[in-house]
Amino acid sequence: MWAIFFEFLLGAVVAHLISRVPFLTFPRLRAWNVQFSPHPEHIYIDSHLIQRVLHMRAFYWLGMVFALIPLVFGWLSLAHGSAPIGFGMWTVSGWLLLSRLTAVISGEEHPWTKQLAMRLQLVKNESESENQCCPFSFPVWEVSAVRCTTCGKNLLNVPRPDLGRPRKDGKIRGFIRLMLTDGRPIVASEE
Ligand SMILES: [Zn+2]
Repeated sequence: MWAIFFEFLLGAVVAHLISRVPFLTFPRLRAWNVQFSPHPEHIYIDSHLIQRVLHMRAFYWLGMVFALIPLVFGWLSLAHGSAPIGFGMWTVSGWLLLSRLTAVISGEEHPWTKQLAMRLQLVKNESESENQCCPFSFPVWEVSAVRCTTCGKNLLNVPRPDLGRPRKDGKIRGFIRLMLTDGRPIVASEE
């Protein structure tokens, strides 16, 4: 009985990890992060950051392609190998695909949308225009909102999601936190 349970769990964990490979690995390479302040410091709103939000969006969708791997292997394992492992893989990857598809249909948002990139671009434009909040406008993304470091004005009420920077809360703790939150912000917006 326990053996079956552990095999199912093993399949489920493997499928969960495989579908998160793009999000967990690619953006965290050292060469990809030299232009950003290290995690968990505030991050300056510039074109690099806006590009990064769009990259995170791409990695989020690439996760669906990666979820097809455990879906196929799970099916093969169900048919020819260990049924519990196969069922575990199949359940988790199928659930991921279904939940992301239904999220699209219901209009639910993931943390790195094109709209968010556009709103950040507007904040950047405004900080460089005549409508800037103060003469030395310097917008940074804090944990709970985008704020000007000079005058402290809240410029965009969006908590900061994971931006793919290598995490400073330790490899294991950072990894577990990412696994549990899927990169979503851990605080609510200030509204
Ligand atoms: Zn300001």
